[in-house]
Amino acid sequence: MADRLYLSSHLPEPVLVVGSVAYDGITTPHRSVDRVLGGAASYASVAASFFAPVRLVGVVGKDFDPADRARFERRGIDMRGLQAVAEGNTFFWRGRYLPGFHQRETLETQLNVFAEFHPHLPVDYPSSPYICLGNIGPDLQHIVLDQITGKPFVLADTMNFWISSQKPALIDLLRRINCFVINDEEATELTGEANLYLAGKALQQLSPPIVIIKKGEHGALLFHQEHLFVLPAYPVLNLEDPTGAGDTFAGALIGALAALGKTDFVSFKRALLYATAAASLTVEAFSIEGLERGKAPEIARRVDTLKRMITLH
Ligand code: AMP
Repeated sequence: MADRLYLSSHLPEPVLVVGSVAYDGITTPHRSVDRVLGGAASYASVAASFFAPVRLVGVVGKDFDPADRARFERRGIDMRGLQAVAEGNTFFWRGRYLPGFHQRETLETQLNVFAEFHPHLPVDYPSSPYICLGNIGPDLQHIVLDQITGKPFVLADTMNFWISSQKPALIDLLRRINCFVINDEEATELTGEANLYLAGKALQQLSPPIVIIKKGEHGALLFHQEHLFVLPAYPVLNLEDPTGAGDTFAGALIGALAALGKTDFVSFKRALLYATAAASLTVEAFSIEGLERGKAPEIARRVDTLKRMITLH
């Protein structure tokens, strides 16, 4: 894969990404688009592919455009785990951002082929050393983990839809993962804590030793065992559509960890810089276009900018 960042001297091990592959209808204060490629796994797998080989697990319907499949192929993503169902349509989500982009409303969620989806991992996937359980029902995240062999590093993401509809399954999942990524509002919803430092600690009590709380344009908080790190977001001047920022963040984070080959505090801090830089590309365009345009050198350039922003020298 030519367009890749090499973060250490060893070759990165594969990352398995599971999550929604979707068509999205999005209205921002400036524009509307209908049926663009979206879904947590789409953003996460493309973002991870800048750092490591990626295995995609998901489901699409009869309406899935071969041109969108080709976009994953161009990023070298292994799609043997992407089931194509002949009856039914691809997951569809419609959302709208209110002026200022600070609030998003979900207008429509059509599970479609997701309603019957049973993730089945191709023969070599279960031994993947890095797993990204992207935003998808916690019941399906459990089914993926049930098939895993070995002792992978597991990161999971979620969203409010699942916190309200499958909270017990989500809480159970937290006991099975190494790192939980969640946004500020969802962290408060799940823990009842408005103070994000207390929310992070409360989430760690539910078992994952590492918790990341994303704060959109205000950056992210990393709780790594007893350590804390705070990183601002990359300063984006041309915000087009924030959809997928969180998924991009999760995918790039686990990809960067795979590329570093370590998950200690220092490696996590470095990976967080790459995740933040990749997410900034996503929000500058609709769908995965920002990532497609961005290319690895641009991610590296943004990481350098972030480093300059957080150092005193
Ligand atoms: P984010 O902006 O990071 O929260 O991710 C938005 C993406 O998540 C969109 O591309 C949607 O297709 C996808 N999505 C929306 N709702 C759900 C859901 N309930 N489960 C899984 N994926 C979803």
